[in-house]
Amino acid sequence: MNQVKAAITSTVEVMPGTHLVWLEAPPVAASAGPGQFVMVRCGEDTTLPRPLSIHRVDGDRLALLFNVVGKGTRWLSQREKGDTLDIFGPLGNGFRIDPAAKNLLLVAGGMGIAPLVFLADAAAGEGKKVTLITGARSADCLLPISSPQGLFNKGVPPASINVVNATDDGSEGYKGLATDLIPAYLEGVDQIFACGPLEMYKTMAQMLELKGKPVQLSLEIMMGCGMGVCYGCTIKTKQGLKQVCKDGPVFDMGDIVWEDFTGV
Ligand SMILES: Cc1cc2nc3c(=O)[nH]c(=O)nc-3n(C[C@H](O)[C@H](O)[C@H](O)COP(=O)(O)OP(=O)(O)OC[C@H]3O[C@@H](n4cnc5c(N)ncnc54)[C@H](O)[C@@H]3O)c2cc1C
Repeated sequence: MNQVKAAITSTVEVMPGTHLVWLEAPPVAASAGPGQFVMVRCGEDTTLPRPLSIHRVDGDRLALLFNVVGKGTRWLSQREKGDTLDIFGPLGNGFRIDPAAKNLLLVAGGMGIAPLVFLADAAAGEGKKVTLITGARSADCLLPISSPQGLFNKGVPPASINVVNATDDGSEGYKGLATDLIPAYLEGVDQIFACGPLEMYKTMAQMLELKGKPVQLSLEIMMGCGMGVCYGCTIKTKQGLKQVCKDGPVFDMGDIVWEDFTGV
């Protein structure tokens, strides 16, 4: 884990209220894996640093992709190129790709896309075939996939990544929830990874088609310190109490005790 002052090399509002910020942070970028996160100090108005997933890595730089939801993310969205951010990381246990897996299914609900792009890129780099289902309320809430500011470092996804869109109102792709599409894409899939809201996870946990399948989820619940000190993000699992920041944020879906799960 490294604590660094990271210079912002670019910042852009990719959609209303959604920002993509690239930072120069060599020691963090060098050791980051998909599903890990950084804690970002967001000005003097917020006492606690805010957790954000490592969205992408490119050489010495890493990207954060976030929605403005409150004080901290608003402050972050107002930073400019050349400003520095106090960050520490990479933190947590991220996604684990099975070396023997050939086909991966990734399911992103809303801003859950942030860590899954890093995972998709890493998996494609290892020769895996990836289907990435992205769900959003409507077409204008779907991030641009193929554009210089889009989701992938080269501007377009590698050929081995198939992106499938779902929108609640049907304004782009399938009309309905990202989870509705899961059964249609399960054939031949070795591992499933998801990041999204709690409701999406609860739906997935009840899907018969996913029973016994290896599903990993990233739990983006509220946390305090990010390092396992404050116990503010403790959850109940079948292996006992776990801290999302230190033991997760990625967990096996079958290990979580959903009845007692109240995290946001
Ligand atoms: C491991 C991890 C990775 C994350 N990665 C990303 C990411 O890549 N992109 C991104 O946009 N967000 C991500 N989040 C959520 C992000 O941390 C929160 O949105 C952020 O801390 C809010 O800070 P704020 O000061 O702007 O909002 P606050 O003023 O603290 O809160 C504003 C509102 O947001 C709600 N809120 C706060 N934290 C969360 C949370 N964790 N989940 C849902 N609602 C929350 C509060 O209940 C409140 O209603 C991640 C969270 C975790 C734990």
